[in-house]
Amino acid sequence: MPELPDLEVAKNVLNRTLTGRTIEEVEIGSPVLLRRPTAEVFATELQNRSFKEFSRFGKFLIFHLEPPAHLYINFMLAGRLRLQSPSDPKQKKLGFRFQLDNNQDIRYHDAKNMGKLYLLLQDESTSLIPNFDDQGPDALDPNLSLEVFRQRIQKFQAVIKHVLVNQRFIAGLGNAYADEILFAAHVLPFRKRSTLTDSEIEALFFATKSVLQNAINTISARAGDTLQFELRDFLQVHGKGSESCRICGTIISSVKSGVRVANFCRECQE
Ligand SMILES: [Zn+2]
Repeated sequence: MPELPDLEVAKNVLNRTLTGRTIEEVEIGSPVLLRRPTAEVFATELQNRSFKEFSRFGKFLIFHLEPPAHLYINFMLAGRLRLQSPSDPKQKKLGFRFQLDNNQDIRYHDAKNMGKLYLLLQDESTSLIPNFDDQGPDALDPNLSLEVFRQRIQKFQAVIKHVLVNQRFIAGLGNAYADEILFAAHVLPFRKRSTLTDSEIEALFFATKSVLQNAINTISARAGDTLQFELRDFLQVHGKGSESCRICGTIISSVKSGVRVANFCRECQE
């Protein structure tokens, strides 16, 4: 599933390759993804608008269009963007296809149909997107200092992994990178937040910044100008259950918690 580093790289690729391009044709494959407005309005409104800029906030990728409109995409579990040729065969589970004025398509596929798209016109506000305005600062926000991180985390009482993936704390972390950050900070995922020492919270803060930035650098180097970067072989613990820890050789643990699996090393994390 796409998480912050994937979306950050996608944003950069799109800014490099599609800024200024105009949407000539809109095809909606799966209207259920469109949370607002309806499919017909969505298609009509997008046609003939141009891409002004692409940005990211938390787990949302945002297409800023001209004349002014903003398309917010939350990829959830299985959303994927692809740059393709209009003549490429259509795959199943097409969410939308925009044909652009450079004879290229940008296509969104969603094997689980769980993604959520919101088109905000002109001065419509993000309060129309459920829970959007409740999010904390983006995990890579330069204003998210250690002090701010410390103050914010005090308000959350759950186990630390659940705090990290709570978008109200900071925006952008999901299951995979929460596992990676906890590993880098040497903290076990099921510790209650209130049991963490000052130095553990500091370690989590610096791990958040460094794990995300390293992942962005790795994914970016591999992706070039494509949007194909689902490989996550560079992760240390997430998805590595029953493999050996790269630091100490202990078998990586897998513990199911709700619908998610937590991966961690019992030796390296405490
Ligand atoms: Zn280990």
